Amino acid sequence: MNVILLGPPGVGKGTQGALLAEGSSWKHMATGDILRANRREGTPLGQEARKHMDAGELVPDELIVAMVKDALASLPPDQGVIFDGFPRTVPQAQALDGVLADLGRKVDRVVVLEADEDVLVKRIAGRLNCPGCGSVFNVHNNTPAVEGICDNCGSDLVHRPDDRPETVRNRLEVYREQTEPLIRFYEGRGGVLVRIRGEGSVEEGQRGIRKLLEQEASSGPPPTGASEGLGTRA
Ligand code: AMP
Repeated sequence: MNVILLGPPGVGKGTQGALLAEGSSWKHMATGDILRANRREGTPLGQEARKHMDAGELVPDELIVAMVKDALASLPPDQGVIFDGFPRTVPQAQALDGVLADLGRKVDRVVVLEADEDVLVKRIAGRLNCPGCGSVFNVHNNTPAVEGICDNCGSDLVHRPDDRPETVRNRLEVYREQTEPLIRFYEGRGGVLVRIRGEGSVEEGQRGIRKLLEQEASSGPPPTGASEGLGTRA
């Protein structure tokens, strides 16, 4: 089963995607995380991506599509994938259809996470990232056990450079202009798209998403790679 988490910056895609994947065989494929890892390692892709990311702009489609294609090619064919932060433009979505078809896959579910803009701005301002393992915390609704320290690897938590207020406004604008049209793109596909509000707690969001994915699973054969993770969590 291939699931896309779609929604504006700060709505909780990364947190929810990581929780869905935890303890399951789902692959959480977060393009922002892959780009940040490339930046840390100083790869040519990371160097090219840096200027776009720091300005709150999108990295060019062809770079992102090639990166995702590579990442998918290394997965077992039956492993479920949760796409987080991808696709972000209609050309990326069209390219994803082609890449998935070549691998005998398709987009099975698009979960749109929605929240009012003031909630998003507050969330992003409170977001803390781990440069060591990529975990995400938030001073408002997902606090680390020890202030400023990653629960998972003990690194000092930092604010992402593109979470600065002036960059966040641009990212929200870019979302509205370039990514929101994807809702219409997927809406025409026979019930593949579902919507959920992302303003509540992390746990509420996770329960809601799992319920939506289970409904899909129960209306057809069990999704490969999805049942373990979705079935065993409360
Ligand atoms: P995220 O962690 O998903 O908020 O992504 C952080 C930044 O990485 C974005 O603001 C973009 O600059 C870049 N990025 C991540 N995913 C994509 C994508 N699918 N297409 C273009 N740029 C992306």
